[in-house]
Formats: sequence, C-alpha cells, structure tokens
Amino acid sequence: MKMALQRSIWILGLAFTLVATAAAQSTAAPPPPAKKSQVTLTYMGTAAWEISDGKTVILIDPYLSRIQIRAPSAPASSGQAADPRPVHDWNEVVEPDAATVDAHIHQANFILVTHTHIDHVMDVPHIALKTHATVIGTESTENVMRAFSVPEDQLITVRGGEDYDFGDFSVKVIPSLHSPLDHKRYFSSEKEPAGMKAPLTLRQMDSEGGTLAYLIRFHEHQILAFGANNYIERELDKLSPDVVLVGAGPSRREIYDYTGRLLRALDFPALVLPTHWDNYTEPYGASQQLAIDTLQSFIQEVKAASPKTNVIVPKYFEPIPLDDDK
Ligand SMILES: [Zn+2]
Ligand SMILES: [Zn+2]
Repeated sequence: MKMALQRSIWILGLAFTLVATAAAQSTAAPPPPAKKSQVTLTYMGTAAWEISDGKTVILIDPYLSRIQIRAPSAPASSGQAADPRPVHDWNEVVEPDAATVDAHIHQANFILVTHTHIDHVMDVPHIALKTHATVIGTESTENVMRAFSVPEDQLITVRGGEDYDFGDFSVKVIPSLHSPLDHKRYFSSEKEPAGMKAPLTLRQMDSEGGTLAYLIRFHEHQILAFGANNYIERELDKLSPDVVLVGAGPSRREIYDYTGRLLRALDFPALVLPTHWDNYTEPYGASQQLAIDTLQSFIQEVKAASPKTNVIVPKYFEPIPLDDDK
C-alpha cells in the first residue's frame, strides 16, 4: 500500500511538473524551428526541372541543348535576329550541347522522363552516364538509354500505375496524354525499339512511347510534374499535390476547360508552375517575352478556376524555394 501511495504522489508530482512546464513554455518565446531540408525547384526551360533538397537531386525531362530543328510542331520564330546556330534535319545525328548541360547539371540522383520526344530525352543519356542517375521512364525511353549503353542497373521501366519508394522520396507514376498538337491531329503509338545502337538520328529519338506524369512525395511536399499539355482526369482525382508543374503551351486550348478541370481534380493546389511554355528552339540568352505574353492567358485561367493558387512564372536557373512550414 505504502509503495502504491508513494507512487501515486510521485505520478501526481510528475503530472504537475509537466503542466507547469507546458504553461511556462506557452509564455516563453517559441523554440527556434528545427532546421528542415528546403526543397527547391529550378526551371531549365522546355519541360526541364531540377527538384532538390540540397542532397537528393531529381531531374524532370532535362533538355538543355535547345537545338534548332525542322519540326512541323516547332514554335513560331520570335522574329529576333537570326540565330546563327545550325538548323538540323531529322535524319541528322546531333550531339547534346555538352558544354551547356555540364555548366548547369553537376549532380543527379534520379531522372524522370515523361515521354520519348527529343526535347525531353535527347540529353538524358549524356546526363545519366555523367551522373550515374537512375532513369525512370517508359520502355521507349529506356531503349534510348540502352542504345547509349547506360547501365541496366540505372534503368527503371514503368508504364503508369507504379508507386515506388526510394527512401528519401517516393514516386507515383501517373498515366497521362501527350499535347494535342496540330489541332488535335497529333497521334503516335510509336515507341523506340529495343536493340538500337548509338549514334541515333534525331528521328530515332523521337517516338513518343506513351506519356507519363509523376507525383513526387519529397519531405512534406507533393509535387506533380507534367511534361505535356494534357492529362487523364480520372487518374488525378484522388491526388492533392501542393505544387503542380502544368503544361501551359498554346495547344492546351484544344482541350475542354483544361485548367479548370485540372485544378478541380487536384483539389486546388497551392502553387502552379507553368512548364513547356517557352520557345525552346531559341538559346537561353534569347528574349522569351513573346512566350511570356502568351502565357498570361494561362495565369488568368488559373486565377479564375482557383483564386487562392499562386502562379510563379519561373526564370531559367533561378531556384524557387518551397515553404517548409506546411
Ligand atoms: Zn512531346
Ligand atoms: Zn515537348
């Protein structure tokens, strides 16, 4: 009995101490927040992004070569002084602009590729071989990697629906659709075949192979990355990312209520970053004013559909830090 009574008094005393401590803490200055890893997103033009916490670097569709190419769907010229760089043909073998790529990409742990068009995949073998990053993409994408002898243990082939845990982050692969180019006439069921060997012509790196989007859960954030101007609404219904990289090119206007349906399906994300809106056949130094002017209608669509959503027009290579107090 005595032992039990002493124990009760001790517990009572402990409880009082805890209450007193809590009361004292409530009036004192709050302790400094624990240092968290800040996630930043950096736009590299076209549909290319770097997502980093300073330790793990995830690249989306990293394409920095920005070559000029004869393409029916290429954006119209901005009317600036003629670009002195060569205009390539689809039957040419074109090396990546290694100087530009290497100036901006020093580390990558994962590369997520949305589809196998040259403005998404052309620089990926070079980056994968240089950084030893793991490349996640369709069978078509991985066949391009194999052609350049990217080691098999760096390749993860997906088709959409996978939800993979990588420890520091996880990736849900979302089945998606390509932009409705050529006034909805664009359609391709082609994919890159197995057994190719580099060098490849541009045409040999340009079979879509299906289009994916990626939901990346990284620290306290959920970042949904698209690489084209379309989506499958039912695949997004249960997602609620706080950051969405939204394809914002003019072909979105072919789609019924593109921005409104998207933002409602995603439960009105806090931050939208437009992607694939610039004129990616021009070098980094060229003015993108025409593309930025054209983008304003997209920003208005976001504001109309989701007034509380913040839209940031990204500048090349300027990191956008995400709030870490969510
Ligand atoms: Zn494409
Ligand atoms: Zn593209």
